[in-house]
Amino acid sequence: MLKTGEEHLESLRDGRKVYIGGTPVDDVTSHPAFRNGARSFAMLYDRKRAPENVDTMSFEEDGERYSSWFLMPKTKDDLRKRTETHRRIASWTHGLLGRSPDHVASFVTGLAMRPDLFEEIGQGFGENMVGYYRHMRENDVCATYTVLPPQGARKPEMYEREGMTVPTLRVTDEDDAGVTLNGMKMLGTSAIFANETWVGNLLPLGPSQVKESITCGVPLGAEGVSIWSRKPFEQHAVSEFDNPLAYRFDETDSMVIFKDVKVPWERVVVHDNAEMSREIYVRSPSHVMGNHQSNVRFLEKMKLILAVARRVTDMNNVGHIPAVQTTLGNLAAKLSGLEAMIEGQIENCEEYAPGYLNVNRRYMYAALHFCTMTYGQICDEVRELLGGGPFQMPADISVVKDPEMRRTFEAYWSVPGQSAIERMKVLKLAWDLLGSEFAGRHAQYEKFYAGPGFLVSGYSYRHLPWEEYEAGLDETMSRYDVPEDWLGDAD
Ligand SMILES: Cc1cc2nc3c(=O)[nH]c(=O)nc-3n(C[C@H](O)[C@H](O)[C@H](O)COP(=O)(O)OP(=O)(O)OC[C@H]3O[C@@H](n4cnc5c(N)ncnc54)[C@H](O)[C@@H]3O)c2cc1C
Repeated sequence: MLKTGEEHLESLRDGRKVYIGGTPVDDVTSHPAFRNGARSFAMLYDRKRAPENVDTMSFEEDGERYSSWFLMPKTKDDLRKRTETHRRIASWTHGLLGRSPDHVASFVTGLAMRPDLFEEIGQGFGENMVGYYRHMRENDVCATYTVLPPQGARKPEMYEREGMTVPTLRVTDEDDAGVTLNGMKMLGTSAIFANETWVGNLLPLGPSQVKESITCGVPLGAEGVSIWSRKPFEQHAVSEFDNPLAYRFDETDSMVIFKDVKVPWERVVVHDNAEMSREIYVRSPSHVMGNHQSNVRFLEKMKLILAVARRVTDMNNVGHIPAVQTTLGNLAAKLSGLEAMIEGQIENCEEYAPGYLNVNRRYMYAALHFCTMTYGQICDEVRELLGGGPFQMPADISVVKDPEMRRTFEAYWSVPGQSAIERMKVLKLAWDLLGSEFAGRHAQYEKFYAGPGFLVSGYSYRHLPWEEYEAGLDETMSRYDVPEDWLGDAD
């Protein structure tokens, strides 16, 4: 099924419990904090179905059409189809939606390509995994994931010492029907706009944390689930002109709380197995498929950042200065390098789930490392090019409502060939992308969405063929030694 945007909006009116501070939100599709964000998600569903996109962005199996992010790739063409689908989604949102519907779906699709892994955990879990994948693709489910314990709750001993209950999500009961969940998980980006959350653990658990190992899909409107939003930037956007990105593309982040939430066995894929709770992502194509989407999304965001950089330098008449062109050239090289890394992932694809092809894991982790480590630096370089421009603009565009003020604004702020309003439009967007609270959240997102930096470096460390390179070193060193007659008598 390929759902429409309106069907997606309707699916969010499921009685979910969403809070902004102490205020409950009745309907996320009409609330001023979330309505434009909800429409951005709906737009993706509609554009995917449009005649010019449907062939690339969906595939047919047994007479039904499904979104391409559920495609299990068997050929290079399949990989290209998936990548182009991610690219279109990201280009329509400038890479500002990290949890667009193709992100978590790619993780789940990668997991379902290795049902045998789940059978190692217990009989029937493999079938459950494939069942959840089928449920997602058949209903075009949009999912977020909450795969981290809350900050501070990673040392259960600390709580036990104080006689407190560890707040992280765990199984507190089980019966013939399923498990009961209690606790909290971080950090459901786009939980407000998603149908379900994939609950699990992307960080390794200690052997004693078996009850926390639960991995399952949970509808966000389920009884007992509540979603506590961070400050919504859309609500604080002055107008679309003043905060064009926060106005439309705040995907939101929320803590998700579970109070006596019942999950049927058919939705459980890991239970009482601390080790496998994390291993499933790295022993299947899951982690690679989900993070390939992130690489592609980042590239589209970089395109917007570079377009802003170039526009601002032209606007300020500094684009001809060699030093400024060098800065733009350095940024251009980074963008092209990332593009090549993405392309290389497909060209040098690998088989690491029998019968399927996947993008090159090592190149994907290199791209992920680049994105995580250099986003701040890229933004900083473009902010340097902005100079004090954003602060020379009036507080907001309402300045043009008064005819006299508008005349003054145009007289003093315009330059030959550019009206004051045009200049302000560019600088407001630039600031929303690089300096506003919305931009600050993006800086944090790019640093942490794939886990902390040391983990991201660890992925590259683990997958380099060190032995092969050291064998080359050994071979070279084996060709020479200290000449025998140079060796003094050490005794
Ligand atoms: C905007 C945003 C959106 C997010 N969206 C999601 C989401 O949708 N789903 C989800 O599940 N999670 C999400 N996350 C959570 C994200 O995965 C975590 O923030 C990330 O894994 C880091 O964990 P933490 O925030 O608890 O930081 P901590 O683990 O507390 O780390 C804090 C700092 O200490 C450092 N540190 C900690 N341990 C070590 C160590 N052993 N060695 C060296 N340094 C260490 C870290 O590198 C970091 O700099 C999101 C985070 C952000 C910021």
